[in-house]
Amino acid sequence: MAPSTTKDYFRFPYLTEGEWEEVLSNLSAAEDAASVRIMRVIECLFERPDHKLNAKAIGRTIGVAYQRLNVDIGMFGRHLHNLYGRPSRIPPLGESGELRPWNIVFDGEDLISGGQTPFYWRIKPEMESAIESLQLFRRNRSPAKHDISTVDEVKNAADTAEFEGWDRLAMLKARVNHGKFRSKVLKARKACQICGLKTKQLLIASHIKPWAKSDPSEKTDIDNALLLCPTHDALFDMGFISFADDGKILLSAELSEEDLRLMNIDKSFMLEIPDGMRKYITYHRENIFRGQL
Ligand SMILES: [Zn+2]
Repeated sequence: MAPSTTKDYFRFPYLTEGEWEEVLSNLSAAEDAASVRIMRVIECLFERPDHKLNAKAIGRTIGVAYQRLNVDIGMFGRHLHNLYGRPSRIPPLGESGELRPWNIVFDGEDLISGGQTPFYWRIKPEMESAIESLQLFRRNRSPAKHDISTVDEVKNAADTAEFEGWDRLAMLKARVNHGKFRSKVLKARKACQICGLKTKQLLIASHIKPWAKSDPSEKTDIDNALLLCPTHDALFDMGFISFADDGKILLSAELSEEDLRLMNIDKSFMLEIPDGMRKYITYHRENIFRGQL
């Protein structure tokens, strides 16, 4: 069998990361059949290690005819062009000059392999960043805070009797908003505020005053957030650590010296607390912290 070689790579930057965040937030909250199919295509591609797959294989994976997916993605591309098109953005044209609206949605690759030339859709880097910022398809997040993690799970949960009518919509919206909230916090803070860990996919935007106890403006106030790695998020979320008004770290006596060392906690750590954050830290210290004040 002849080795695979890339024949053609259709890289086309069209939407920015911020525009993709907007588009994907809306798309993931939409409930019409086409939007749901398109989200499943995106999820299917995103979960491939190299973020690419051909339409037939995607169709088999999600149980939809690939011709249907071709139409969906083409229409979605045209839709995006209607919404975001401007003179500086010329949609990619095919060899004979025809519009290729799918290329607004995905990059593409033509591979030659053993005489066959399967055509691959591939997640654009800008879309990939937006998916990561919104944490759209994350499955294994810390259960303490992210009991509901993907839009599918939100929809499943919302299908139960617990969430009906407007509550259901409000809940969907709230969770999508959490994605936007995380994205804002990530842009403002960039690393775990305790240890400096920078791997974006691992960082958690943790509400200082818990989301459920916050009023609507507090829910979206980035002063009500710390950006933390999973370990430090768990410690803070469960009240094993908190902070004094001057930012000095407070520790629960339940944590042994050995565990403090294992979890990279320096007893003299000082958190930088902007003025707007102080009331939330006070709330956390008085209501969530497990240690003696
Ligand atoms: Zn950390």
